[in-house]
Amino acid sequence: MIVGIDLGTTNSLIAVWDNGAARLIPNSLGQMLTPSCVSVDDDGAILIGQAARERLQTHPQASAANFKRLMGSDKTLYLGKRAFRPEELSALVLRSLKEDAEAALGHPITEAVITVPAYFSDAQRKATRTAGELAGLKVERLLNEPTAAALAYGIHLRDGESKFLVFDLGGGTFDVSVLDLFDSVMEVRASAGDNYLGGEDFVTALVEHFFNAAGVPATLRADAHFMQRLAAQAELAKRALSESPRATIRVADGDTQYALELDEAGFEKLCALLLARLRAPVERALRDARLPIAELDNIVLAGGATRMPLVRKMAARMFGRFPACDIDPDQVVALGAAVQAGLKMKDAALDEVVMTDVAPYSLGVATTMQVDADHFSHGHFDPVIERNTVIPASRVKRYFPLQDTQRVIELLVYQGEARMASDNIRLGALTIPLAAGSDEGVDVRFTYDVNGLLQVEATLVRTRDVHTLVIEGNPGLLSAPEIAQRLQALSELKIHPRDHMENRTLLARGERLYQQLRGDERERLGREIARFEQALGTQERRMIVPAIDVFRQVLDYFDHQSFLLPEA
Ligand code: AMP
Repeated sequence: MIVGIDLGTTNSLIAVWDNGAARLIPNSLGQMLTPSCVSVDDDGAILIGQAARERLQTHPQASAANFKRLMGSDKTLYLGKRAFRPEELSALVLRSLKEDAEAALGHPITEAVITVPAYFSDAQRKATRTAGELAGLKVERLLNEPTAAALAYGIHLRDGESKFLVFDLGGGTFDVSVLDLFDSVMEVRASAGDNYLGGEDFVTALVEHFFNAAGVPATLRADAHFMQRLAAQAELAKRALSESPRATIRVADGDTQYALELDEAGFEKLCALLLARLRAPVERALRDARLPIAELDNIVLAGGATRMPLVRKMAARMFGRFPACDIDPDQVVALGAAVQAGLKMKDAALDEVVMTDVAPYSLGVATTMQVDADHFSHGHFDPVIERNTVIPASRVKRYFPLQDTQRVIELLVYQGEARMASDNIRLGALTIPLAAGSDEGVDVRFTYDVNGLLQVEATLVRTRDVHTLVIEGNPGLLSAPEIAQRLQALSELKIHPRDHMENRTLLARGERLYQQLRGDERERLGREIARFEQALGTQERRMIVPAIDVFRQVLDYFDHQSFLLPEA
C-alpha cells in the first residue's frame, strides 16, 4: 500500500486511497493535523507533533518548527546539544505519520507519495526525497501541492469539464496552478508561486507590529522564551481574526504586561505588502495558461492560511467572485496525495483518470551572446526547458565553443526566469574537455521527470563522449554515505512511543500553561500537574484513564482563562 503525505511547514497529514476514496488517518491523539514540530525532552528523548509544539514555548532551545523552509540548505538546527539537518527533522515527522498509518492499517508502510510546493527547487525536492528515505519510506512520487489539491477536487468532477485555479497558501509557501479537466484527463496548464510567502509571514508581521505599537523594548528580541510566547499569541490572534472582528495579543515579561488590540482593518493594513504579493503569481499562471479570468469555472482554496478572511477577500477581489470552499483547505493536499497513491497502485476506481503536470520554472544554461563582430556579452540565461512545459520533458540544445583555442566548455546550469543567469538559482556545473583546436559542438539534453527532478547530459557531437551534470559540492544535499550515516544516527535516537503521546502532550501543555500563569492559578495548576504525574506513576489503566480526562478539563479551563482571544 502506498500512502499520501502532505509534509507541511506548519502541519503534516497522512491519507490513504481505500475502497475507492481518499481517507485521512488520525494520529495517536485522534487528530488529523500533526504539527511539523520536533523537540528533545530533558531525558534526550524525541517528541514529535503537538507535544513538541507546546514545548516550543517552554523549551525553545530544544524544539524546532518551520524547518520545511530550510529544506535543501545546509543549515544545522540544534535541539539542546543535538544537531539536526532539516531533512532529519522532516524525517522524524514522516516517521511519526508512518507509524500512525501502520497502527491504523495494521501492516507496515514502506512507500509514499509526498507533496512539495510546486515552487520547490531541485535541491528542496531532493532533500524531501532524502527525508522520506531517512524515515524508511520509498518516495514513489513527489507531487506538487496545488496539483494534489486539484486531484482531490477534480476527482469528484471527473466526468465533467471544468477549468479551475488552485490558490494554495500554506504556512510557508504560495502556489498557484491553473487546471483544465476534460473527460477524466486533468491537465495542469500552468503553475506559478512564491516560495517565501505563507501564513507564517502574517504572524511575523503581527510580531513586528507588536514591538512597535505595544512599546516592547527591542532587547526582548534576544529573549527566545519571550519571542516564542509572542509568536504563539500572534498566531492565536491571527486565527481569532478569522472568526471575529477583533483580537488582543497579550504577552508578559515578568511583571510587565504588554498588550495590543487589533481589528480586521488594522490587520489588513499591516499585511498590505504580503497581500499584494499574492497577485503576481496568479497573473503569471493565467498568462502562461493563456486563460482569461472569465473562463475559470472555479477557484479552489488550499492551505490553512486561506482561512484568513483578508486572504479570501483579496482572492475574491482578484477573481471577481468568491472561491469554492467545499473541501477543507487543511486536508485537500493530503487527500490529493492519496488519490495519486491510488493512481500509482492502479486502483480500478481510478482506471481512466490521467493527470499531467508542468515544470513550474525554466531550466537552462549560462551562455555568451555575440553582440557584434568584436563584442561578446557573457552570463545570459538560455532556457532549455521553458517554464510550464508538460512533464516529463526532454529537450536538447546544441552549443559551440567561442574560440578555436578553447580547451573546455563550462556549462553552468540554472533555474529561473531572469535574463542574466546570475540572477537565477544555480543548480550545478558541467565541465566538458575539448580536443585542441576543435570547434565541435556539444548537445546538451535536459530531462525533467514527473517528480520535478532534473538530469543534464552533454554529448560531444563528434566523439559522442557523454558527460553528466554533477551537482558537485552542493552543501544543501547529502551524499549516499552521509544518508546511510544519518539513517544509523536516527535509528539510535530514543523516541517516545506512540501510546505515550497523549500523556506527554498533556504534560507539555501543562508545562506551557504553568509558565504563563501566576499566583494562585499557577499554584493550583502545579498541584494538578503533580496529581496527574502521580496517576501516571501508578501505571494502572483504571487510575490513568480518568486522570487524563480530569487533567484535560483543567488545561482547557486555564487555556481559555489565559488567552483572552476574541473580544466581541
Ligand atoms: P498549512 O501549511 O497548509 O498547514 O497551513 C498552515 C498555515 O495556515 C499556518 O500559517 C497557520 O497559521 C494558518 N492557519 C491555519 N488555520 C488558520 C485560521 N483559522 N486562520 C488563519 N490562519 C490559519
